Amino acid sequence: MLYNNLGKRTILLTPEVLATFSKYQQTGAKTEAGGYLIGQEFGGQLVVEVATEPGADDIRKSFFFKRNKNRGQKFVDEIWKASGRKMIIAGEWHSHPEKFPTPSKTDIRESMKSFAKGHFPLGFMLIVIVGKKAIVHSWVGIQNKSGLFKINRIGYQFWRDD
Ligand SMILES: [Zn+2]
Repeated sequence: MLYNNLGKRTILLTPEVLATFSKYQQTGAKTEAGGYLIGQEFGGQLVVEVATEPGADDIRKSFFFKRNKNRGQKFVDEIWKASGRKMIIAGEWHSHPEKFPTPSKTDIRESMKSFAKGHFPLGFMLIVIVGKKAIVHSWVGIQNKSGLFKINRIGYQFWRDD
């Protein structure tokens, strides 16, 4: 799926990333899940190629998800080195038990904190919240130093809309 990055450049979520989101949609009694988004820039377009999956040491509940920051950071560092310093951390994702997800007050606070504490080489952090409906209805936004802003999907839709 292709997104407009606040009127500058574009962001592409690859089918592999969308497949990982699908796997953790909170249908039935599944708990919240999440991870990091990793990608690289090609001619100004951010291509998100990996969504890390929840690990055993993440805390997962129905309405709550907390990443193990140490394990996550280690993985991000490994990918960065293995890719010849091309693949970088682009953001974070998590699931919500809602059909059409929106960031909670906690999400808004945590997103600001993550951005302030972390090192995001692109100068922004991509935030994706996956709901219970089709992946195309995910909430996608940009956290930068000014706040958290929803961004819009453009172009072709590479995913089912049902
Ligand atoms: Zn949330």
